[in-house]
Amino acid sequence: MRQSKLFPKTRKEAPKDAESINHKLLVRGGFIDQLMAGSWTLLPLGWRVVTKINQIIREEMNAIGGQEMLMPLLHPKELWNETGRWDKANEIMYKLTDSRKKEYALSFTHEEIVMDLLRKNIKSYQDLPIYVYHFSTKFRNEPRARSGILRGREFMMKDLYSAHVSEDDLMDYYEKVKGAYAKIFKELGFNFKVVEASGGVFTDRRTHEFQVLDAGGEDTFYFCDSCDYALNKEIFEGKVGDKCPKCKKGKIKIAENSVEVGNIFPLGTWYAERMRVYYTDSQGKKKPVWFGSYGIGPTRVMGTLVEVFHDDKGIIWNKAVSPFDVHLIELPGGNGKKVYEDLKKEGVDVLWDDREVPAGEKFADSDLIGIPVRLVVSEKTKDKIERKERTSSKIKLLSLKEAVELL
Ligand code: ATP
Ligand code: MG
Repeated sequence: MRQSKLFPKTRKEAPKDAESINHKLLVRGGFIDQLMAGSWTLLPLGWRVVTKINQIIREEMNAIGGQEMLMPLLHPKELWNETGRWDKANEIMYKLTDSRKKEYALSFTHEEIVMDLLRKNIKSYQDLPIYVYHFSTKFRNEPRARSGILRGREFMMKDLYSAHVSEDDLMDYYEKVKGAYAKIFKELGFNFKVVEASGGVFTDRRTHEFQVLDAGGEDTFYFCDSCDYALNKEIFEGKVGDKCPKCKKGKIKIAENSVEVGNIFPLGTWYAERMRVYYTDSQGKKKPVWFGSYGIGPTRVMGTLVEVFHDDKGIIWNKAVSPFDVHLIELPGGNGKKVYEDLKKEGVDVLWDDREVPAGEKFADSDLIGIPVRLVVSEKTKDKIERKERTSSKIKLLSLKEAVELL
């Protein structure tokens, strides 16, 4: 991609109302644009990053048997009344009435929709288990939509739903999803913990949150410094310095400013009982389906990455989610076009700064946008290329072949 054509241009100043790092850097870099509080456009650079995050998630969902689909966002009130969540989730749900006085909800989650799908399509134990997921928009009437793209009123979620014949089968799969989530967040480079939490408007059971530490967020949890014990502050009863109730060896510590990037819910039969989703077992007996749901917010993940990986010059993307593989900077006398085309032939995704602006401006933009590898061609480099990583100050002079090999 030629940078001269990239929409929009970077900005020198952050928006006046921006408080958080992700808000400032993502807007300045041209990744996102705010329409109103809690509502963001993913601009071409931002969409590239979220697409890559989604692909990492998609691969792990498919690896545990997930089947991707897409469900509607406009839901009839009747469906939400079957579980009582039309009233129970009143605060978070956007509701609307059409010109014929029919009432709808804008999706804040999809349990009821999946349940409706299941009861239309499941008869016997032979039809189970089922694992389905989608990536789609969620609407939530968040009271405080601050923190940049970490908390939207409209945001993207990957939600997976599973249906089973028994609690054992549900909990086996629940552990598999936990493992898949751990792989995803590891690949994204996060320092995270799996934290036990309450289930909010979803369930009375305990759930597990994936919390990224020191990420400029609003969550607090307590954890053991020597085992995997971790509890959200809403359910933890104790204090810092206590002996760990699980391993009896470690001490309890506190993690503030963490960000919840994922949450998994073992929902049990509560939904099936209310929505009459039954299957017949091998003895011909009718039984309610065991159900679980599992969410990750890719747009919040993008914001969290920026909160964690940045310096005073800008964003530092890791290779797995960077909007481009390479930022090629052309300075006067360098043959950018040739290197750009050669790199493209090698299958490298390149942002080529072909603009006629001063070198200092190009380097500043490159640091702001945060692509992990920078290549420079100029009069000075002749038939070679200068390579620098975003996280280092070391510059190497390489041939094109050597530069490609290092990618
Ligand atoms: P929070 O406690 O931060 O409000 P939540 O517990 O209500 O989040 P869940 O219902 O567990 O959120 O949603 C699953 C995932 O969706 C979260 O782990 C997060 O990654 C993402 N998510 C939830 N709310 C938002 C939001 N307002 N903006 C962006 N992403 C969100
Ligand atoms: Mg949650």
